Amino acid sequence: NGSYRNESEAGQTVVIGSSGFIGRFITEACLDSGRPTYILVRSSSNSPSKASTIKFLQDKGAIVIYGSITDQEFMEKVLREYKIEVVISAVGGESILDQFSLIEAIKNVNTVKRFVPSEFGHDIDRAEPVEPGLTMYEQKRKIRRRIEECGIPYSYICCNSIAAWPYHDNTHPADVLPPLDRFKIYGDGTVKAYFVAGSDIGKFTVMSIDDDRTLNKTVHFQPPSNLLNMNEMASLWETKIGRVLPRVNVTEQDLLQRAQEMRIPQSVVAAITHDIFINGCQINFSLDKTTDVEVCSLYPNTSFRTIAECFDDFAKKISDNEKAVSKPVTASNTDIFVPTAKPEAL
Ligand code: NDP
Repeated sequence: NGSYRNESEAGQTVVIGSSGFIGRFITEACLDSGRPTYILVRSSSNSPSKASTIKFLQDKGAIVIYGSITDQEFMEKVLREYKIEVVISAVGGESILDQFSLIEAIKNVNTVKRFVPSEFGHDIDRAEPVEPGLTMYEQKRKIRRRIEECGIPYSYICCNSIAAWPYHDNTHPADVLPPLDRFKIYGDGTVKAYFVAGSDIGKFTVMSIDDDRTLNKTVHFQPPSNLLNMNEMASLWETKIGRVLPRVNVTEQDLLQRAQEMRIPQSVVAAITHDIFINGCQINFSLDKTTDVEVCSLYPNTSFRTIAECFDDFAKKISDNEKAVSKPVTASNTDIFVPTAKPEAL
């Protein structure tokens, strides 16, 4: 693994969207790797939970810059003054097109060695979900094309699903517990997907940004140990909670209907859930383009957290909650774990 730099050589990095779901994992990994890490925070971002995330990251060493990527002139100044070499964007689904002005700033300054746009899901040039998932993919595709036209050095991160129960109406499923009353199984529950811990999404993204082998490449996360179908996920969770739960089938038609309701962001999640668990969009292609690289091949000595370990964390939260409230956890009080979790745009 000699082709990526050690931490003393790591360039100044700015993370955009640190207070968000994926951005926090990325920022933590940047800080853990010892990189000088700036975080761009919108001054309008004032929810208590986001403020506490920013404080947590500052305490770990992140340096806050207040501003928005939509202010191109300001972003050019930031990139120049802080001598930024790496830009990682994890803006949410509703802000994908905001990255156009960021790209112009990066192009004009011309000193950024790697740009990671906000993707963190599927290979959007391959997958073709139904609407409204497709609209978001088309926006991400436009961002890719502009980066390529401008000749900006990039890596596209395709990390697949987050390690959590894949609720079809929640963009941040790792913020809530897996089911405690019944499982909703999509289709026949046999289509597999890659479930990657948030900390590993951060860790492998940060490893890849200094690596020559990932320059202008699509970086796929396909750890064989994290490839499970829903029936296997359900059985594994049953072993962690020590009981068997009923399984209800959610048909392809049910998911399509949820998508057609056009409730944003829930319908976006339903469309992508359909693409994963009915179409098999994470597994129905081979890595046959010259631009494809896969993280397990790049970093064979670095392991991924398993789903079993991630489920252990959820089970521990249940037992901690039970101790705290001295009553058994039932389906009706599962929201005591991260009660503020809300669906947001994928
Ligand atoms: P969130 O909505 O949780 O967070 C978005 C962040 O971006 C916030 O910190 C927000 O700041 C910031 N932001 C938005 N617009 C701007 C701007 N103009 N300037 C500066 N900051 C801005 O996003 P997610 O984590 O849900 O999504 C990030 C990416 O990850 C998306 O591409 C999404 O599709 C993908 N994703 C993948 C998942 C998976 O399982 N693989 C799951 C969820 C998302 P503020 O606090 O000011 O709003």
